[in-house]
Amino acid sequence: MISKRGFTTTILHSDRLTKPEHGALHQPIHTSVTYGYEDVQDLVDIFQNKKKGYAYSRQGNPTVSALEHKVTQMENGIATIAFSTGMAGISATILALMKQGDHIVASSYLFGNTRSVFQSFIDIGLDITFVDATSIDNVRNEIKDSTKMVFVETIANPATQIVELDKIGDLCEEKGLIYMVDNTMTSPYLFKPIKVKASLVVNSLTKYIGGHGNALGGSVTDTGLFNWANFPNIFEGFKKQVKPEVLGMTQIRKKGLRDAGGTLSPEAAHSISIGSETLALRMERACTNAFALATFFESHPMIKKVYYPGLKSHPQHELAGRLFLKYGALMSIELDNSIDCFAFLNKLKLVIKSSNLGDTRTLAIPVAHTIFNELGAAKRVEMGISDSMIRLSIGIEDLDDLVEDFKEALG
Ligand SMILES: *Cc1c(COP(=O)(O)O)cnc(C)c1O
Repeated sequence: MISKRGFTTTILHSDRLTKPEHGALHQPIHTSVTYGYEDVQDLVDIFQNKKKGYAYSRQGNPTVSALEHKVTQMENGIATIAFSTGMAGISATILALMKQGDHIVASSYLFGNTRSVFQSFIDIGLDITFVDATSIDNVRNEIKDSTKMVFVETIANPATQIVELDKIGDLCEEKGLIYMVDNTMTSPYLFKPIKVKASLVVNSLTKYIGGHGNALGGSVTDTGLFNWANFPNIFEGFKKQVKPEVLGMTQIRKKGLRDAGGTLSPEAAHSISIGSETLALRMERACTNAFALATFFESHPMIKKVYYPGLKSHPQHELAGRLFLKYGALMSIELDNSIDCFAFLNKLKLVIKSSNLGDTRTLAIPVAHTIFNELGAAKRVEMGISDSMIRLSIGIEDLDDLVEDFKEALG
């Protein structure tokens, strides 16, 4: 399953190796909602998990499978399930694996909508504790008998905190907990969470993997490291049907994707597949741009603070250097008090005021007023988000043009 070839070669040739009809280089867009069989036994076997195949597209489609296979290879995992969005993947996985009263330790530095849906899960009976996971002790101190999972992100958005990913992996292994890592901000090109013993890896395919801001999607990959056979919440019926190592993915596909219905469309899967072919190239360029801009901002008198893991001033700079291939393409800045944040943003001509990230274009957004507005001031303080913070998702434009645009807006 795992290719020995390089990252980009593997993605580029992934579809072709399954020999699509007419020698197509891409898996075609299969729009059929349902699949018919000559022998009804084949259909029955697919329903009973005895045979691989397609029955109804809500839980599987050949175009989507081709993308799932690519993500599995990118993450060095054993299997991937794609979803309509990153949020659908996170929600469906928690819904599929957790039961009332189960406890999750989550990083307090989370994507705003993840934090929000976790609050909804608390409201219907899950027990979730948010901790400053940049220190392993804070995670360890919250583990109790009912703890089933630890959930973290690789680089937090917008303040770029990096939790003790490796030590948390050791802790989860020791305690037999599911370690779920949202790899969106680094993407599997910069970091493979299997390296820190993650059990499940989430990617918002909408961001760097798709990369062009033209399709929504999400994925959850099983790294193969977690022992599902001993996990108490697995549905008894599945234990009779499938091998222990695929129990987790079977449960997430059936109880999560099939039942909650957050299915990725074949059209979006195709767009994301094409985008993913250039992930490495785009990431290299965006990271180079980001590093140069962060250095420029750090020395600019009108910028009070720069949050970017590539800077020596970043509290987890050493950890980022040790774990990640590059320091990412997301940063946040705080302007000098004398500059009005909205006026600055409105002066930008090239950089787009927009909420996405991981696009090919550079995007800027004032976070406290927008994506983290609903959370309220107290939670924003807890997450390290100040009122004047501007998040920048650096794209692949020519660097000089970006520097020029920021220089003019600051001047
Ligand atoms: C965007 C994002 C998500 C959600 O992904 P969608 O595809 O927008 O639903 C989850 N986690 C992180 C870190 C993100 O940046």
